[in-house]
Amino acid sequence: MPKRVLSGMQPTGRLHLGHYLGVLKNYVKLQEKFDCYFMAANWHSMTAFYHDYAQAHNFIAPMISDWLAAGLDPEKSVIFVQSDVPYHAELCLILSMYTPVSWLERNPTYKEKQENVEKDIDSYGFLGYPVLQAADIFLYRGQLVPIGEDQLPHLELSREIARRFNHINKLENANAIIEPEPLLSPSPKVVGTDGRKMSKSYGNTLSLSEDENDLRDKIKKMKTDTARIKRTDKGNPENCPVFSYYDYFLPDRKTEINSQCRSAGIGCIDCKMIIADKIIMETLPFREYRKKVINDSALVQDILQAGADRAKKTAGATMENIRNTLGINKPCQINV
Ligand code: SF4
Repeated sequence: MPKRVLSGMQPTGRLHLGHYLGVLKNYVKLQEKFDCYFMAANWHSMTAFYHDYAQAHNFIAPMISDWLAAGLDPEKSVIFVQSDVPYHAELCLILSMYTPVSWLERNPTYKEKQENVEKDIDSYGFLGYPVLQAADIFLYRGQLVPIGEDQLPHLELSREIARRFNHINKLENANAIIEPEPLLSPSPKVVGTDGRKMSKSYGNTLSLSEDENDLRDKIKKMKTDTARIKRTDKGNPENCPVFSYYDYFLPDRKTEINSQCRSAGIGCIDCKMIIADKIIMETLPFREYRKKVINDSALVQDILQAGADRAKKTAGATMENIRNTLGINKPCQINV
């Protein structure tokens, strides 16, 4: 039996090259080897979008469209929306009773996000989001969670919650919650058009479904080696965000572009247009799929409905087991 993988992505806006290179390409590979559950983590997105959740909800279908365009196959993977499976909320509530507040307060992301995110996310829900994450994984008895090394502390928290729950309830083997293992996955630091990490909050993204002309225009305006001012100046590709895209999209031309840049044999506009053409070609399926989805809104809905049915079946069985373990299913009786 292939091991089970659980992973989720928050629908918070248009997916960009960072998502494609850092997550989606990996998802597509994983579905060939594992029993994968991929979830639109819309309840997680509420931690930041609680004041206007309807907006975040509208990001779900475009995100799923990008997943499908990238090659995720609903026949191979279970693709679903978190809130379509209410067991997530139930298990999160139960696990929250077993999770000491101090564990959540020491979560490095909690403090970092509180300091860096402009929105007011100082909520009970945000503090407790690792508990919801743990519930997401445990419900599907996920054995592996694809993460980058920087996310290891989050998974460790899920593992600690599993251990505490199992220990307090004296659970072993088949009845125990599975402690998920990390599936360390490549997480390339894709830079945005301004040279900082590509992120919607920096406004420096190249979206997967972006119009061709907009893509070309954004790449044309990208920051390059700031010391290369005139066309005749020699450049240093190591200081150029544009050059980093050659790594992902045109590795065969890296050596040539590297030496041409260093000898001022190529201008920045030409260098940018070479990579722009390649990115436009690689993102064509995303634009095409988006058109398909716009013309046939049932396409994504049907996939998500089928995914929700399969997810509910798996999660429901786990939840039934947990309820029985805790005695929640017992009929209430007066025995005093
Ligand atoms: S030629 Fe290319 S790699 Fe060199 S600085 Fe210009 S854009 Fe960057």
